[in-house]
Amino acid sequence: MSDLLQATDLRRHYRVRTGQGLFAPKAVLRAVDGVSLALRPGRTLGLVGESGCGKSTTGKLVLGLVPPTSGTVHYRGQTLPPVGTPAWRGLRRHIQMVYQDPLGALDRRLPIGTQIEEPLVIHAKAAGAAERRDRALATMESVGLQRHQYERYPHELSGGQRQRVVLARALMTEPDLLVCDEPISALDVSIQAQVVNLLLDLQDRLGMAYLFISHDLKVVRQVSHDVAVMYLGRIVEQGEAESLFAAPAHPYTRALVAAIPAVDFGGGSKRERMLLQGDPPNPVNVPSGCAFHTRCPFATAQCRAEAPTLQPLARGRMVACHRVHEPALQVAA
Ligand code: SF4
Repeated sequence: MSDLLQATDLRRHYRVRTGQGLFAPKAVLRAVDGVSLALRPGRTLGLVGESGCGKSTTGKLVLGLVPPTSGTVHYRGQTLPPVGTPAWRGLRRHIQMVYQDPLGALDRRLPIGTQIEEPLVIHAKAAGAAERRDRALATMESVGLQRHQYERYPHELSGGQRQRVVLARALMTEPDLLVCDEPISALDVSIQAQVVNLLLDLQDRLGMAYLFISHDLKVVRQVSHDVAVMYLGRIVEQGEAESLFAAPAHPYTRALVAAIPAVDFGGGSKRERMLLQGDPPNPVNVPSGCAFHTRCPFATAQCRAEAPTLQPLARGRMVACHRVHEPALQVAA
């Protein structure tokens, strides 16, 4: 099956001031630094990592909302056109975004029905008001909203209902791909499972692919077919979700997985105790060599001097770690 979306060697660097004042020296912040991803139709790729690791910027690069410093994004084999151009708008209706904060994503002054219909107006996909309304009502029902809520305003709905409105609006253009950026983290815990189940159900019914960006590995494990783990702008491990969670190989992934609240990881895997020490380093001052060496219990002189690149491990797993083949770090992938 060919890829729906392919991102190759994406980089997004910013020049930022390192102190206060107009004359403070500038440095380069490497928000995304050489990320390659592939997403197949109907599949979910989970993108995980601590906050500030560049996963949200990667989502925006994939949508074309942020232009890359370098690298390419191909959608169905076609290069993503420059943002704002007619070609970008035409392609953009196939790739929609679901944000973390549904209230912030909606206009408080407009009834939700009007907002759900909006993509049809923008992309001229429906002939008249009656057709737009019919399609909005049908889509509302498909995401678990009631028809009478068509006239309601965002503040009259619960957080979970507002996220359903955002989803309904995204579905109006019949996208192939949803980029979901922390789609449940702003919701009450009691509502989170409902929205996750809705996403799974929609994927089943409509065959959409998801790029699911989250710091919550428990949820990522539940929804993802494949997973990519980011640390300070780079992917340090990626592979098939089930085997990655059962046997994480990179020391960073192992620490993240060890921190997931107790769940059955299946496959007879043993949970190891590996605590993640300290906070991630300042992204404008990334450590030399392997960026994870300041927190890694296995770091050596080579790790401090040379940056590892992603290397194949087994069964499609890719890992960026100098020592991953050594017995001390070996896991059955
Ligand atoms: Fe740890 Fe070295 Fe591997 Fe980096 S390359 S994760 S520092 S063992």
